[in-house]
Amino acid sequence: MILLYQESRYSRINVSTIYDKYEAVIGLEIHAQLQTKSKAYSSDKNEYGSAPNTNVSVVSLGHPGTLPMMNKESIRFAVKMGVACGSDITQDMIFARKNYFYADLPKGYQITQDKTPICTGGSVLIKDANENDKIINITRIHLEEDAGKSIHDLDPYNTLIDLNRAGVPLIEIVSEPELKNSQEAYNYLTEVRKLVRYLDICDGNMEEGSMRCDANVSVMLKGSTVFGERTEVKNMNSIRNVQKAIDYEIKRQIEVIEAGGEIKMETMNFDAVTGTTSSMRSKEEAHDYRYFPEPDLQPLQVTQEYVDKVKEQMPPLPKELFDKYTQELSLSAYDAGVLTETKEIALYFEEVIKHTKHYKAASNWVTVNIKSHLNDKAIEIEDFNVPATKIAEVISLIDEGIISNSVASQKVFPLLIDQLDKTAKQIAEENNWIQDSNEDAIAGFVKQAIAKYPEKVAEYKAGKKGLMGLFMGEVMKLSQGKADPKAASKALAKELNN
Ligand code: ADP
Ligand code: MG
Repeated sequence: MILLYQESRYSRINVSTIYDKYEAVIGLEIHAQLQTKSKAYSSDKNEYGSAPNTNVSVVSLGHPGTLPMMNKESIRFAVKMGVACGSDITQDMIFARKNYFYADLPKGYQITQDKTPICTGGSVLIKDANENDKIINITRIHLEEDAGKSIHDLDPYNTLIDLNRAGVPLIEIVSEPELKNSQEAYNYLTEVRKLVRYLDICDGNMEEGSMRCDANVSVMLKGSTVFGERTEVKNMNSIRNVQKAIDYEIKRQIEVIEAGGEIKMETMNFDAVTGTTSSMRSKEEAHDYRYFPEPDLQPLQVTQEYVDKVKEQMPPLPKELFDKYTQELSLSAYDAGVLTETKEIALYFEEVIKHTKHYKAASNWVTVNIKSHLNDKAIEIEDFNVPATKIAEVISLIDEGIISNSVASQKVFPLLIDQLDKTAKQIAEENNWIQDSNEDAIAGFVKQAIAKYPEKVAEYKAGKKGLMGLFMGEVMKLSQGKADPKAASKALAKELNN
Protein backbone atom coordinates (compact mmCIF):
# COMPACT_ATOMS: atom_id res chain seq x y z
CA MET A 1 0.00 0.00 0.00
CA ILE A 2 2.83 2.34 0.73
CA LEU A 3 3.65 2.10 -2.98
CA LEU A 4 0.93 4.59 -3.82
CA TYR A 5 2.76 7.26 -1.87
CA GLN A 6 6.07 6.39 -3.46
CA GLU A 7 4.71 6.33 -6.97
CA SER A 8 2.85 9.59 -6.77
CA ARG A 9 5.91 11.35 -5.49
CA TYR A 10 7.65 10.51 -8.67
CA SER A 11 4.50 11.14 -10.72
CA ARG A 12 4.71 7.83 -12.60
CA ILE A 13 1.01 7.17 -12.42
CA ASN A 14 -1.92 9.47 -12.39
CA VAL A 15 -3.52 9.26 -8.97
CA SER A 16 -4.94 12.77 -8.96
CA THR A 17 -8.46 11.47 -8.36
CA ILE A 18 -7.67 10.47 -4.79
CA TYR A 19 -6.84 14.07 -3.96
CA ASP A 20 -10.22 15.27 -5.17
CA LYS A 21 -11.95 13.24 -2.46
CA TYR A 22 -10.48 15.38 0.30
CA GLU A 23 -10.53 18.94 1.49
CA ALA A 24 -7.89 20.60 3.62
CA VAL A 25 -8.24 22.67 6.78
CA ILE A 26 -5.48 25.10 7.68
CA GLY A 27 -4.87 27.39 10.64
CA LEU A 28 -1.79 29.60 10.93
CA GLU A 29 0.16 30.78 13.93
CA ILE A 30 2.21 33.83 12.99
CA HIS A 31 4.97 35.18 15.19
CA ALA A 32 5.87 38.79 14.51
CA GLN A 33 8.89 40.37 16.22
CA LEU A 34 7.96 43.83 17.40
CA GLN A 35 10.42 46.49 16.33
CA THR A 36 10.69 48.24 19.67
CA LYS A 37 13.99 49.85 20.64
CA SER A 38 14.51 47.58 23.64
CA LYS A 39 13.49 44.06 24.55
CA ALA A 40 10.18 42.89 26.01
CA TYR A 41 11.18 42.84 29.67
CA SER A 42 14.58 44.55 29.82
CA SER A 43 16.43 47.57 28.47
CA ASP A 44 18.67 45.40 26.24
CA LYS A 45 18.78 46.60 22.68
CA ASN A 46 16.38 44.92 20.27
CA GLU A 47 18.49 44.94 17.15
CA TYR A 48 18.91 42.44 14.34
CA GLY A 49 22.43 41.85 13.08
CA SER A 50 24.45 42.98 16.11
CA ALA A 51 27.59 40.96 16.91
CA PRO A 52 26.46 37.73 18.62
CA ASN A 53 25.71 37.91 22.33
CA THR A 54 26.24 41.65 22.65
CA ASN A 55 22.66 42.66 23.45
CA VAL A 56 22.43 40.53 26.56
CA SER A 57 22.24 41.68 30.14
CA VAL A 58 21.61 39.61 33.25
CA VAL A 59 17.87 40.04 32.70
CA SER A 60 17.99 38.48 29.21
CA LEU A 61 20.12 35.72 30.66
CA GLY A 62 17.68 35.18 33.51
CA HIS A 63 20.25 35.39 36.25
CA PRO A 64 18.80 34.70 39.70
CA GLY A 65 17.65 37.84 41.44
CA THR A 66 16.95 39.78 38.28
CA LEU A 67 13.46 41.03 37.58
CA PRO A 68 11.69 41.61 34.27
CA MET A 69 10.11 44.95 33.53
CA MET A 70 7.32 45.31 30.97
CA ASN A 71 8.16 47.31 27.82
CA LYS A 72 5.21 49.68 27.36
CA GLU A 73 5.88 50.12 23.68
CA SER A 74 5.32 46.42 22.98
CA ILE A 75 1.87 46.70 24.59
CA ARG A 76 1.06 49.64 22.32
CA PHE A 77 2.20 47.70 19.26
CA ALA A 78 0.04 44.70 20.16
CA VAL A 79 -2.96 46.98 20.75
CA LYS A 80 -2.37 48.60 17.34
CA MET A 81 -2.52 45.19 15.69
CA GLY A 82 -5.67 44.30 17.64
CA VAL A 83 -7.35 47.55 16.64
CA ALA A 84 -6.39 47.02 12.99
CA CYS A 85 -7.96 43.54 13.06
CA GLY A 86 -11.06 44.70 14.93
CA SER A 87 -10.19 42.47 17.90
CA ASP A 88 -11.42 42.91 21.46
CA ILE A 89 -8.63 44.32 23.60
CA THR A 90 -8.37 42.62 26.96
CA GLN A 91 -8.58 45.07 29.83
CA ASP A 92 -7.08 43.01 32.64
CA MET A 93 -4.40 40.53 31.88
CA ILE A 94 -1.59 38.61 33.44
CA PHE A 95 1.50 37.04 31.99
CA ALA A 96 2.35 33.36 32.24
CA ARG A 97 5.47 31.27 32.47
CA LYS A 98 5.85 28.61 29.84
CA ASN A 99 8.47 26.22 31.18
CA TYR A 100 10.78 24.21 29.02
CA PHE A 101 14.44 23.45 28.82
CA TYR A 102 16.42 24.36 25.76
CA ALA A 103 19.94 25.66 25.28
CA ASP A 104 18.78 28.92 23.71
CA LEU A 105 16.43 29.63 26.60
CA PRO A 106 18.77 30.29 29.51
CA LYS A 107 15.95 31.27 31.89
CA GLY A 108 14.32 27.86 31.49
CA TYR A 109 10.99 29.50 30.77
CA GLN A 110 9.41 31.96 28.38
CA ILE A 111 7.19 34.80 29.59
CA THR A 112 4.05 34.64 27.48
CA GLN A 113 0.29 34.98 27.81
CA ASP A 114 -1.86 31.93 28.30
CA LYS A 115 -5.41 32.49 29.55
CA THR A 116 -5.52 36.25 29.00
CA PRO A 117 -4.17 37.12 25.54
CA ILE A 118 -4.06 40.87 24.88
CA CYS A 119 -6.43 40.57 21.89
CA THR A 120 -9.23 38.14 21.13
CA GLY A 121 -11.37 37.84 18.01
CA GLY A 122 -11.13 40.13 15.02
CA SER A 123 -10.41 39.19 11.44
CA VAL A 124 -8.33 39.74 8.34
CA LEU A 125 -9.93 40.19 4.91
CA ILE A 126 -8.25 38.18 2.17
CA LYS A 127 -8.91 37.01 -1.37
CA ASP A 128 -9.67 33.33 -1.83
CA ALA A 129 -8.19 31.31 -4.68
CA ASN A 130 -10.89 32.69 -7.02
CA GLU A 131 -10.14 36.29 -6.06
CA ASN A 132 -13.34 36.62 -4.03
CA ASP A 133 -13.34 38.34 -0.64
CA LYS A 134 -13.07 36.03 2.35
CA ILE A 135 -12.90 36.83 6.04
CA ILE A 136 -10.42 34.89 8.14
CA ASN A 137 -11.20 35.10 11.82
CA ILE A 138 -8.50 35.58 14.41
CA THR A 139 -8.66 33.43 17.52
CA ARG A 140 -6.28 35.52 19.59
CA ILE A 141 -3.17 37.67 19.55
CA HIS A 142 -0.88 37.36 22.53
CA LEU A 143 2.36 38.92 23.66
CA GLU A 144 5.45 36.90 24.40
CA GLU A 145 9.22 36.95 24.21
CA ASP A 146 11.48 35.28 21.67
CA ALA A 147 14.10 32.71 22.60
CA GLY A 148 17.77 32.91 21.59
CA LYS A 149 18.96 31.49 18.33
CA SER A 150 20.71 28.13 17.94
CA ILE A 151 23.01 28.08 14.94
CA HIS A 152 23.66 24.59 13.63
CA ASP A 153 25.47 25.27 10.38
CA LEU A 154 28.48 27.42 11.27
CA ASP A 155 30.54 24.92 13.23
CA PRO A 156 30.93 21.31 12.09
CA TYR A 157 30.85 19.90 15.64
CA ASN A 158 29.02 22.36 17.84
CA THR A 159 25.79 24.27 17.95
CA LEU A 160 26.45 27.96 18.46
CA ILE A 161 24.08 30.09 20.48
CA ASP A 162 23.32 33.75 19.99
CA LEU A 163 21.21 35.19 22.78
CA ASN A 164 20.67 38.60 21.20
CA ARG A 165 17.20 37.43 20.23
CA ALA A 166 16.34 36.17 23.71
CA GLY A 167 13.70 38.50 25.13
CA VAL A 168 12.79 40.23 21.88
CA PRO A 169 9.06 41.05 22.04
CA LEU A 170 6.71 39.06 19.81
CA ILE A 171 3.06 38.94 19.08
CA GLU A 172 1.63 35.60 18.10
CA ILE A 173 -1.40 35.86 15.83
CA VAL A 174 -3.45 32.66 15.85
CA SER A 175 -6.03 32.19 13.11
CA GLU A 176 -9.15 30.06 13.22
CA PRO A 177 -8.89 26.91 11.08
CA GLU A 178 -10.64 28.63 8.19
CA LEU A 179 -8.11 28.55 5.39
CA LYS A 180 -8.97 25.98 2.74
CA ASN A 181 -5.87 25.77 0.60
CA SER A 182 -2.30 26.95 0.27
CA GLN A 183 -3.30 29.92 -1.91
CA GLU A 184 -5.53 31.26 0.84
CA ALA A 185 -2.71 30.75 3.34
CA TYR A 186 -0.39 32.64 0.99
CA ASN A 187 -2.86 35.50 0.64
CA TYR A 188 -3.53 35.61 4.38
CA LEU A 189 0.17 35.80 5.23
CA THR A 190 0.69 38.50 2.61
CA GLU A 191 -2.15 40.49 4.11
CA VAL A 192 -0.88 40.11 7.69
CA ARG A 193 2.60 41.13 6.59
CA LYS A 194 1.21 44.18 4.82
CA LEU A 195 -0.69 45.07 7.98
CA VAL A 196 2.27 44.85 10.38
CA ARG A 197 4.32 46.91 7.92
CA TYR A 198 1.64 49.60 7.59
CA LEU A 199 1.38 49.68 11.37
CA ASP A 200 5.16 49.98 11.66
CA ILE A 201 5.28 47.30 14.33
CA CYS A 202 7.29 44.61 12.51
CA ASP A 203 9.35 44.59 9.33
CA GLY A 204 7.68 41.36 8.20
CA ASN A 205 10.93 39.90 6.94
CA MET A 206 10.50 36.12 6.84
CA GLU A 207 14.02 35.51 5.51
CA GLU A 208 15.54 37.12 8.60
CA GLY A 209 12.95 35.46 10.80
CA SER A 210 11.33 38.63 12.08
CA MET A 211 8.05 37.13 10.92
CA ARG A 212 7.60 33.36 11.26
CA CYS A 213 4.72 31.06 10.57
CA ASP A 214 3.66 27.63 11.81
CA ALA A 215 1.09 26.00 9.56
CA ASN A 216 -1.45 23.62 11.09
CA VAL A 217 -2.75 21.33 8.40
CA SER A 218 -5.35 18.57 8.32
CA VAL A 219 -7.46 16.87 5.68
CA MET A 220 -10.94 15.36 5.75
CA LEU A 221 -13.31 13.85 3.22
CA LYS A 222 -15.09 16.54 1.22
CA GLY A 223 -18.25 17.73 2.91
CA SER A 224 -17.28 16.28 6.29
CA THR A 225 -17.88 18.44 9.35
CA VAL A 226 -15.39 16.63 11.52
CA PHE A 227 -11.85 17.91 11.15
CA GLY A 228 -9.05 15.42 10.66
CA GLU A 229 -6.05 15.20 12.97
CA ARG A 230 -3.60 18.02 12.27
CA THR A 231 0.11 18.31 11.97
CA GLU A 232 2.04 21.52 12.55
CA VAL A 233 4.70 22.45 9.99
CA LYS A 234 7.57 24.73 10.99
CA ASN A 235 10.67 26.34 9.52
CA MET A 236 9.44 28.03 6.37
CA ASN A 237 11.46 31.15 5.66
CA SER A 238 9.26 32.71 3.00
CA ILE A 239 5.58 33.00 2.22
CA ARG A 240 6.16 30.94 -0.93
CA ASN A 241 7.68 28.17 1.18
CA VAL A 242 4.69 28.18 3.52
CA GLN A 243 2.55 27.60 0.45
CA LYS A 244 4.83 24.78 -0.76
CA ALA A 245 4.95 23.16 2.67
CA ILE A 246 1.15 23.17 2.94
CA ASP A 247 0.74 21.68 -0.54
CA TYR A 248 3.21 18.95 0.25
CA GLU A 249 1.65 18.24 3.63
CA ILE A 250 -1.90 18.02 2.23
CA LYS A 251 -0.75 15.56 -0.41
CA ARG A 252 1.26 13.52 2.07
CA GLN A 253 -1.64 13.27 4.52
CA ILE A 254 -4.07 12.16 1.82
CA GLU A 255 -1.63 9.53 0.64
CA VAL A 256 -1.10 8.23 4.18
CA ILE A 257 -4.86 7.97 4.73
CA GLU A 258 -5.48 6.40 1.31
CA ALA A 259 -2.79 3.84 2.06
CA GLY A 260 -4.71 2.86 5.18
CA GLY A 261 -2.54 4.84 7.56
CA GLU A 262 -3.47 7.38 10.18
CA ILE A 263 -2.39 10.99 10.72
CA LYS A 264 -0.87 11.53 14.13
CA MET A 265 -0.56 14.89 15.79
CA GLU A 266 3.00 15.75 14.96
CA THR A 267 5.31 18.68 14.51
CA MET A 268 6.83 18.57 11.04
CA ASN A 269 9.96 20.21 9.72
CA PHE A 270 9.93 21.73 6.22
CA ASP A 271 13.04 21.27 4.12
CA ALA A 272 13.24 24.06 1.56
CA VAL A 273 15.81 22.24 -0.56
CA THR A 274 13.70 19.14 -1.19
CA GLY A 275 10.34 20.86 -0.69
CA THR A 276 9.27 18.09 1.69
CA THR A 277 8.17 17.80 5.31
CA SER A 278 9.43 15.27 7.85
CA SER A 279 8.52 14.47 11.42
CA MET A 280 10.29 16.50 14.12
CA ARG A 281 8.45 15.31 17.20
CA SER A 282 5.23 13.49 17.92
CA LYS A 283 2.57 14.33 20.44
CA GLU A 284 3.95 11.76 22.87
CA GLU A 285 7.08 13.83 23.03
CA ALA A 286 5.11 17.05 23.30
CA HIS A 287 6.01 19.31 26.16
CA ASP A 288 3.94 19.85 29.21
CA TYR A 289 4.78 23.50 29.65
CA ARG A 290 3.29 23.76 33.14
CA TYR A 291 2.01 27.27 32.57
CA PHE A 292 1.55 29.34 35.71
CA PRO A 293 1.08 33.07 36.35
CA GLU A 294 4.38 34.92 36.02
CA PRO A 295 5.10 36.01 39.58
CA ASP A 296 7.66 38.67 38.65
CA LEU A 297 5.35 40.78 36.49
CA GLN A 298 2.35 42.64 37.80
CA PRO A 299 -1.06 42.19 36.24
CA LEU A 300 -1.49 44.62 33.39
CA GLN A 301 -4.43 46.87 32.77
CA VAL A 302 -5.22 48.38 29.39
CA THR A 303 -7.93 50.99 29.80
CA GLN A 304 -10.51 51.92 27.18
CA GLU A 305 -9.02 55.40 27.24
CA TYR A 306 -5.66 53.97 26.22
CA VAL A 307 -7.22 51.94 23.42
CA ASP A 308 -9.06 55.04 22.18
CA LYS A 309 -5.81 56.97 22.11
CA VAL A 310 -4.15 54.25 20.05
CA LYS A 311 -7.15 54.32 17.71
CA GLU A 312 -6.79 58.06 17.22
CA GLN A 313 -3.16 57.66 16.23
CA MET A 314 -3.68 54.80 13.79
CA PRO A 315 -1.93 55.26 10.44
CA PRO A 316 -3.99 54.71 7.29
CA LEU A 317 -4.54 51.00 6.68
CA PRO A 318 -4.37 49.25 3.31
CA LYS A 319 -8.03 48.26 3.34
CA GLU A 320 -9.20 51.83 4.06
CA LEU A 321 -6.98 53.24 1.33
CA PHE A 322 -8.11 50.55 -1.13
CA ASP A 323 -11.76 51.46 -0.47
CA LYS A 324 -10.99 55.17 -0.80
CA TYR A 325 -9.21 54.66 -4.12
CA THR A 326 -11.88 52.45 -5.64
CA GLN A 327 -14.92 54.23 -4.24
CA GLU A 328 -14.02 57.91 -3.87
CA LEU A 329 -11.37 58.21 -6.58
CA SER A 330 -13.03 55.70 -8.96
CA LEU A 331 -9.79 53.87 -9.64
CA SER A 332 -9.83 50.24 -10.72
CA ALA A 333 -9.35 47.49 -8.14
CA TYR A 334 -6.12 46.60 -9.92
CA ASP A 335 -4.72 50.13 -9.62
CA ALA A 336 -5.85 50.41 -6.00
CA GLY A 337 -4.16 47.09 -5.29
CA VAL A 338 -0.84 48.22 -6.74
CA LEU A 339 -1.05 51.58 -4.96
CA THR A 340 -1.66 49.98 -1.56
CA GLU A 341 0.83 47.13 -1.89
CA THR A 342 3.23 48.98 0.37
CA LYS A 343 2.61 51.86 2.71
CA GLU A 344 5.42 53.88 1.13
CA ILE A 345 3.89 53.74 -2.35
CA ALA A 346 0.47 54.62 -0.92
CA LEU A 347 1.88 57.58 1.00
CA TYR A 348 3.61 58.88 -2.11
CA PHE A 349 0.38 58.62 -4.07
CA GLU A 350 -1.42 60.40 -1.21
CA GLU A 351 1.05 63.27 -1.61
CA VAL A 352 0.49 63.46 -5.37
CA ILE A 353 -3.30 63.64 -5.02
CA LYS A 354 -2.96 66.49 -2.55
CA HIS A 355 -1.87 68.53 -5.57
CA THR A 356 -4.00 67.19 -8.41
CA LYS A 357 -7.57 66.08 -8.82
CA HIS A 358 -6.74 64.01 -11.89
CA TYR A 359 -6.61 60.76 -9.88
CA LYS A 360 -6.42 58.36 -12.80
CA ALA A 361 -3.38 60.20 -14.17
CA ALA A 362 -1.80 60.32 -10.71
CA SER A 363 -2.34 56.58 -10.36
CA ASN A 364 -0.79 55.92 -13.77
CA TRP A 365 2.25 58.01 -12.96
CA VAL A 366 2.84 56.17 -9.71
CA THR A 367 1.97 52.63 -10.80
CA VAL A 368 3.54 52.79 -14.26
CA ASN A 369 6.22 55.47 -14.70
CA ILE A 370 7.54 55.67 -11.17
CA LYS A 371 7.26 51.96 -10.45
CA SER A 372 9.11 50.95 -13.58
CA HIS A 373 11.81 53.49 -12.78
CA LEU A 374 12.13 51.93 -9.30
CA ASN A 375 12.32 48.47 -10.87
CA ASP A 376 14.95 49.54 -13.38
CA LYS A 377 17.13 51.09 -10.72
CA ALA A 378 16.31 48.40 -8.12
CA ILE A 379 15.45 51.06 -5.57
CA GLU A 380 12.54 51.69 -3.23
CA ILE A 381 10.15 54.62 -3.35
CA GLU A 382 11.91 56.00 -0.24
CA ASP A 383 14.93 56.57 -2.47
CA PHE A 384 12.94 58.30 -5.19
CA ASN A 385 13.81 61.98 -4.82
CA VAL A 386 11.34 63.70 -7.13
CA PRO A 387 8.79 65.45 -4.92
CA ALA A 388 5.15 64.49 -5.42
CA THR A 389 4.38 68.12 -6.26
CA LYS A 390 6.42 67.84 -9.46
CA ILE A 391 4.52 64.75 -10.55
CA ALA A 392 1.32 66.71 -10.00
CA GLU A 393 2.85 69.57 -12.02
CA VAL A 394 3.59 67.23 -14.94
CA ILE A 395 0.00 66.00 -14.85
CA SER A 396 -1.35 69.51 -15.07
CA LEU A 397 1.06 70.44 -17.87
CA ILE A 398 -0.35 67.51 -19.85
CA ASP A 399 -3.93 68.36 -18.98
CA GLU A 400 -3.43 71.97 -20.06
CA GLY A 401 -1.99 70.80 -23.37
CA ILE A 402 1.40 72.33 -22.62
CA ILE A 403 3.33 69.11 -23.09
CA SER A 404 2.21 65.86 -24.62
CA ASN A 405 1.84 62.69 -22.63
CA SER A 406 4.66 60.96 -24.47
CA VAL A 407 7.04 63.91 -24.13
CA ALA A 408 6.18 64.00 -20.42
CA SER A 409 6.91 60.36 -19.74
CA GLN A 410 9.77 59.79 -22.16
CA LYS A 411 11.62 63.09 -22.01
CA VAL A 412 10.58 65.28 -19.08
CA PHE A 413 10.35 62.51 -16.46
CA PRO A 414 13.97 61.26 -16.79
CA LEU A 415 15.24 64.84 -16.51
CA LEU A 416 13.05 65.53 -13.49
CA ILE A 417 14.99 62.77 -11.75
CA ASP A 418 18.38 64.13 -12.88
CA GLN A 419 17.69 67.84 -12.49
CA LEU A 420 16.04 68.09 -9.12
CA ASP A 421 16.45 71.87 -8.96
CA LYS A 422 14.18 72.47 -11.97
CA THR A 423 10.43 72.39 -12.38
CA ALA A 424 8.86 70.28 -15.11
CA LYS A 425 7.89 73.42 -16.99
CA GLN A 426 11.45 74.77 -16.90
CA ILE A 427 12.73 71.48 -18.26
CA ALA A 428 10.16 71.46 -21.07
CA GLU A 429 10.92 75.09 -21.97
CA GLU A 430 14.69 74.75 -21.93
CA ASN A 431 14.49 71.74 -24.22
CA ASN A 432 11.93 73.28 -26.52
CA TRP A 433 9.37 70.56 -25.75
CA ILE A 434 6.39 72.83 -25.23
CA GLN A 435 3.56 71.52 -27.31
CA ASP A 436 2.36 73.48 -30.29
CA SER A 437 -1.34 74.09 -30.26
CA ASN A 438 -0.97 77.06 -32.56
CA GLU A 439 -3.58 76.37 -35.21
CA ASP A 440 -1.60 77.82 -38.11
CA ALA A 441 1.46 75.74 -37.32
CA ILE A 442 -0.61 72.60 -37.00
CA ALA A 443 -2.50 73.33 -40.21
CA GLY A 444 0.87 73.61 -41.96
CA PHE A 445 2.00 70.19 -40.68
CA VAL A 446 -1.35 68.68 -41.70
CA LYS A 447 -1.00 70.01 -45.24
CA GLN A 448 2.55 68.65 -45.53
CA ALA A 449 1.51 65.23 -44.19
CA ILE A 450 -1.36 64.96 -46.63
CA ALA A 451 0.74 66.12 -49.55
CA LYS A 452 3.29 63.44 -48.78
CA TYR A 453 0.87 60.50 -49.27
CA PRO A 454 -1.60 61.25 -52.10
CA GLU A 455 -2.46 57.54 -52.70
CA LYS A 456 -3.11 57.04 -48.98
CA VAL A 457 -5.43 60.02 -49.01
CA ALA A 458 -7.41 58.36 -51.78
CA GLU A 459 -7.54 55.10 -49.84
CA TYR A 460 -8.66 56.96 -46.76
CA LYS A 461 -11.40 58.68 -48.68
CA ALA A 462 -12.44 55.28 -50.07
CA GLY A 463 -13.09 54.13 -46.51
CA LYS A 464 -9.78 52.96 -45.03
CA LYS A 465 -10.18 55.09 -41.91
CA GLY A 466 -7.39 53.21 -40.11
CA LEU A 467 -4.93 55.32 -42.11
CA MET A 468 -5.59 58.19 -39.72
CA GLY A 469 -2.79 56.78 -37.55
CA LEU A 470 -0.31 57.16 -40.38
CA PHE A 471 -1.19 60.81 -40.93
CA MET A 472 -1.10 61.53 -37.20
CA GLY A 473 2.32 59.94 -36.98
CA GLU A 474 3.54 62.14 -39.82
CA VAL A 475 2.17 65.30 -38.19
CA MET A 476 3.81 64.42 -34.88
CA LYS A 477 7.09 63.72 -36.67
CA LEU A 478 6.96 67.02 -38.57
CA SER A 479 6.22 68.90 -35.36
CA GLN A 480 9.01 67.02 -33.54
CA GLY A 481 6.45 65.63 -31.14
CA LYS A 482 5.23 69.04 -30.12
CA ALA A 483 1.88 69.22 -31.89
CA ASP A 484 -1.04 68.94 -29.50
CA PRO A 485 -2.47 65.55 -30.52
CA LYS A 486 -6.07 66.62 -29.96
CA ALA A 487 -5.78 69.71 -32.11
CA ALA A 488 -3.79 67.80 -34.74
CA SER A 489 -6.31 64.99 -35.11
CA LYS A 490 -9.14 67.48 -35.36
CA ALA A 491 -7.35 69.43 -38.08
CA LEU A 492 -6.44 66.22 -39.93
CA ALA A 493 -10.00 64.91 -39.87
CA LYS A 494 -11.28 68.21 -41.14
CA GLU A 495 -8.78 68.31 -43.97
CA LEU A 496 -9.22 64.66 -45.02
CA ASN A 497 -12.99 64.79 -44.97
CA ASN A 498 -13.02 67.86 -47.09
P1 ADP B 1 -1.07 24.72 19.77
O1 ADP B 1 -0.44 25.41 20.92
O2 ADP B 1 -1.44 23.33 20.00
O3 ADP B 1 -0.32 24.91 18.51
P2 ADP B 1 -2.82 26.88 19.18
O4 ADP B 1 -4.18 27.14 19.73
O5 ADP B 1 -1.73 27.82 19.49
O6 ADP B 1 -2.48 25.41 19.60
O7 ADP B 1 -2.93 26.81 17.61
C1 ADP B 1 -3.74 25.94 17.00
C2 ADP B 1 -3.79 26.30 15.52
O8 ADP B 1 -4.18 25.16 14.81
C3 ADP B 1 -4.79 27.37 15.19
O9 ADP B 1 -4.30 28.22 14.18
C4 ADP B 1 -5.99 26.58 14.69
O10 ADP B 1 -6.74 27.31 13.76
C5 ADP B 1 -5.33 25.41 14.03
N1 ADP B 1 -6.13 24.19 14.03
C6 ADP B 1 -6.82 23.64 15.03
N2 ADP B 1 -7.39 22.49 14.65
C7 ADP B 1 -7.02 22.27 13.36
C8 ADP B 1 -7.28 21.24 12.40
N3 ADP B 1 -7.99 20.17 12.68
N4 ADP B 1 -6.72 21.37 11.19
C9 ADP B 1 -5.96 22.44 10.87
N5 ADP B 1 -5.70 23.42 11.73
C10 ADP B 1 -6.21 23.35 12.96
MG1 MG C 1 0.85 25.47 17.54
